[in-house]
Amino acid sequence: MSIKKRVLIVEDEPSLVFTLKDTLENEGYEVAIVEDGKEAVNIVKDFRPDLMLLDIMLPGMSGFEVCKKVREMKMNFPIIMLTARDQEIDKVTGLNIGADDYITKPFGVKELLARIQARLRRANTYNKPGPINTVNLGDIRVDLNESKVIHPDKEVELTTREVELIRFLVANANEPVSRDSLLENVWRYEFSTNTRTVDVHISKLRTKIETHPDDPRYLVTLHGVGYMIKLA
Ligand code: CA
Repeated sequence: MSIKKRVLIVEDEPSLVFTLKDTLENEGYEVAIVEDGKEAVNIVKDFRPDLMLLDIMLPGMSGFEVCKKVREMKMNFPIIMLTARDQEIDKVTGLNIGADDYITKPFGVKELLARIQARLRRANTYNKPGPINTVNLGDIRVDLNESKVIHPDKEVELTTREVELIRFLVANANEPVSRDSLLENVWRYEFSTNTRTVDVHISKLRTKIETHPDDPRYLVTLHGVGYMIKLA
């Protein structure tokens, strides 16, 4: 049995709500409806929509505000804004605050369904966390696919181990990582490795990714704890 995709409709125009609900339910979506902007912000945490259809002119809070608040809550489902006003300024505002698409009323049901499907397909691919390929450290760029560090004035090669080390630190960016954890996850307790091995590799890596390896800005030591990569 396939799981129904959930669509949250935020719209205060009864006839449109009726049509949207009917159409989407017929297409197999699970639908929730709110008519008020503030209520929309409250319901997303519980309803966890896969996609939101969001009117702009709403009681309580405008669609723009709703969109902004939802993004501030770090919710990344696609948002398609519904607007009666086909004005360029609205589109720009909407897209700047994190809306994914726009549809101007009146719209055809087929067009709306096509847009919803397109957004849901894209969301599926976006949400799969792929491996991290580049890390930016100020004006230094680390290309993990190519195993190299690109400085403004030079390029430096990374060893396979260094790439693994960076990947692990970046996966835990801004959190302390102990030497034991590095031994376990990067060296996998290979024969004759110890915490000293970790320290030596970290020092070497600093010479490659830090402008001032003796006073590191990104790959820092946390005394008595281990290491941490600091990313903005
Ligand atoms: Ca409205």
